Amino acid sequence: MDIQNILDTITADMQAMPDKGQVADYIPQLACVDPNQFGMAVALPDGTVFTAGDANTPFSIQSVSKVFTLTLALGRFGDQLWTRVGREPSGQPFNSILQLEHERGIPRNPFINAGALAVTDAILTGYQPKELLGELLRFVQDCADDDSIVINNAVAHSETLHGDRNMALAHFMAAHGNLENRPELTCGTYFHQCALQMSCAQLARAGRYLTAHPDAPHMVSLQRVRRINALMLTCGHYDASGDFAYRVGLPGKSGVGGAILAIAPGKAAICAWSPGLNDYGNSKLGTRAMERFAHMTGWSVFG
Ligand code: GLN
Repeated sequence: MDIQNILDTITADMQAMPDKGQVADYIPQLACVDPNQFGMAVALPDGTVFTAGDANTPFSIQSVSKVFTLTLALGRFGDQLWTRVGREPSGQPFNSILQLEHERGIPRNPFINAGALAVTDAILTGYQPKELLGELLRFVQDCADDDSIVINNAVAHSETLHGDRNMALAHFMAAHGNLENRPELTCGTYFHQCALQMSCAQLARAGRYLTAHPDAPHMVSLQRVRRINALMLTCGHYDASGDFAYRVGLPGKSGVGGAILAIAPGKAAICAWSPGLNDYGNSKLGTRAMERFAHMTGWSVFG
């Protein structure tokens, strides 16, 4: 299969699309990103990377970081983590407060904001935020085998200044006894994890451990890889997760920076990035590109 040719074809098509979606503007630092960018990368388990378009331009990975914190949390707490957060699709926007009240401060899943805050809060306990962020950064660098990956403090600071909604979620969980650290500490740590800055090539390389291929870096057990993929498939795109599963047929996680990381188990990790978002807060062209990619390769978890 000519992966390079597939990426080049998709990239040319995406660059020609007139409607690129809306850049996230509730985080001012993200509002100034040029929406006319598109990149894509495919990392094979052995580390070989194919790239096209702006695949080496760093961007804010935002909610894709939730995959890495979940991996650390499951390593630390195993199934105990599920006392604090559920494993069901939410059918609600990523930043919704509504469901959290109904469900008494236990978020539906680890990929909506409330759930990700619970996960970050769990792994923060016993650490200083800086220590934990250092551990997270090293983990992501190890996964990608790339020490040049950094956290963009300007993006984290920008989100902190406009983080009222996430603070509300954290306070709400605290009121229900589902927060172990002070809301500003948990949110501050979470804003920094979201501000991890990576390119498509780096993010695809970092995702290789989720392919469970023997040549990929072995970061966690096979059972855990399968479970993380299951959550990505069912919850990774919020209230558009069903649609992503239907159209793409691969586990994926999106972020409001415009990235999507998808996993073709046993084959490759794929990253598409375009900053413009659709109505669900997922990359508009990134979603389309993944759909084309799955179609052209025939890769799917459904046979
Ligand atoms: N940092 C962002 C927020 O909490 C992440 C959201 C996302 O990428 N969907 O709003």
